[in-house]
Amino acid sequence: MKISIASDHGGVDLKAALVEFLSGEGVQVEDAGPATRESCDYPDYAIKVAMAVAKGTSDFGVLICRSGIGMSMVANRFHGVRAAVCATVDGAVTTRQHNGANVLCLGADLISCDYAKEVLKAFISTPMDMSERHARRREKLERAQRLSDVSLLARADPEVFATIEAHTVQEDTEINLIASENFSSRACREAAGSVLMNKYAEGYPGRRWYSGCVPVDAAELMAIARAKELFGAEHANVQPHGGSAANMAVYFAVLNQGDTIMSMALDQGGHLSHGSPVNFSGKIYNIVSYTVDPKTEMLDYDTLERQAMEVRPKLLLVGASAYPRTIDFARVRKICDKAGCLMMVDMAHIAGLVAGGAHPSPVPYADFVTTTTHKTLGGPRGGMVLCKEKYAKAIDSAVFPGMQGGPLENIIAAKAVCFREWLNGDKAGYAAQVVKNCQVLCKTVQDRGYRIVSGGTDNHLFLIDVKATKGITGKDAAAALDAAGIVANKNTIPYDTESPFKTSGVRVGTASVTTRGMREAEMIKIGTWIADVLDDITNTVVQERVKREARELAIGFPAP
Ligand SMILES: *Cc1c(COP(=O)(O)O)cnc(C)c1O
Repeated sequence: MKISIASDHGGVDLKAALVEFLSGEGVQVEDAGPATRESCDYPDYAIKVAMAVAKGTSDFGVLICRSGIGMSMVANRFHGVRAAVCATVDGAVTTRQHNGANVLCLGADLISCDYAKEVLKAFISTPMDMSERHARRREKLERAQRLSDVSLLARADPEVFATIEAHTVQEDTEINLIASENFSSRACREAAGSVLMNKYAEGYPGRRWYSGCVPVDAAELMAIARAKELFGAEHANVQPHGGSAANMAVYFAVLNQGDTIMSMALDQGGHLSHGSPVNFSGKIYNIVSYTVDPKTEMLDYDTLERQAMEVRPKLLLVGASAYPRTIDFARVRKICDKAGCLMMVDMAHIAGLVAGGAHPSPVPYADFVTTTTHKTLGGPRGGMVLCKEKYAKAIDSAVFPGMQGGPLENIIAAKAVCFREWLNGDKAGYAAQVVKNCQVLCKTVQDRGYRIVSGGTDNHLFLIDVKATKGITGKDAAAALDAAGIVANKNTIPYDTESPFKTSGVRVGTASVTTRGMREAEMIKIGTWIADVLDDITNTVVQERVKREARELAIGFPAP
């Protein structure tokens, strides 16, 4: 056991006595000062001990001032620190058992030296009460930080604070099935909201246009190294602000205006930035769309090959925003080789499945792989390009100075945090569970008579054809689900006869619900609710009932 101890000038004598006492008990003690009775500021010392406990380098902390109160106030501002002022043995025992206190604050003026030893001994020898109710309350205690993290805004900018508060409540109480969304970890959000956002760092690590880039260089190098390790890539550019920017970087790196890109049509599951006429990609390049097979609603690689041989595009792009099936990257590589074109994979949606081994990786095959970092990958909102070494220079100059100015180093640091979560095993089993959950959820809805595009799913999403099943639009279906506390989105389905604004489909994804720890049993509940609501979208009684039940389920699986 290791204990960090500190005091202010008023607690130096008691501290010395307790250090001696703890050493005698065989405890490793770190005395963080002060060494003399000279007047000092208690926060300076409280921070040292609180940091040691927050980092986990010490098991417990002990802080002493005249009352113990100022010390506890400082310590309790640190994540994971639970500091308690104790004047009695009973108090120390209770706060250990119930609150899991890990920093003991003592008032030197309020307690005798001998009794302080007894209080300390009780504190470090009492285990936490692991019963469900106390564990639940401790978890709520820590989760209070979801709001306290932004509570400076409560006064500084109440209007903005209100929106964050409302979104927090929404996350806590709704079932989020939006396939492109996820919950980032708190560690990720801390990096994203950090002081790294204050730094201008145009250029790349080691060759910036600004001074003072040592810390952000380290953060960006870490993000690059971890991205390469996680995906087995030769080169990574972690600066793109989003997935669309990552795609733009690839186009700018290897295409000229008017060059031909072959990509999946938007209404078939492709993305805006794959050549939609309203997007830059559709305005600058010659776009030839491919479709899924009208019968199977899956990619037909023979057809794709024939089309590629005919079109001879400069770049063949695969990857989608609403395609529920595994993509055969090895086969696409062969097509590209035969047609003599570059191969680009946009794995924005499935990056987390690739990272977690639940979808084959495009990295060994594709010349370029682009992705977002916030979808199944579960990191901050942002983008990234992975490519072969021979394209490294072209990609880097396309991103900067080609299309972006200063990179968002705070977001890049958050990307590094996310990659580490994958690499160090925090997310082990997550990707497989996302797919398992998706298949169970899909089957539950399907068994209630709903037509599923392509008949099922291999990944984190599926599409319900509500038009064919119930004669309703995706827009109305999504609105009914929303009223029932289930958030999904309308989506076109292949060969949709409705406008993109109305659509025939609803897209459902399981990345978010899996992040909050839900498994197959919860998917059956949610699938049943979806069918209950869609069976009659005018039935507000059902919507009210589902909303109540969904809320209860959501609260039981707290978002990070
Ligand atoms: C989401 C998505 C993008 C775009 O990401 P943004 O970060 O919103 O720019 C690009 N490609 C695909 C396939 C996507 O699904």
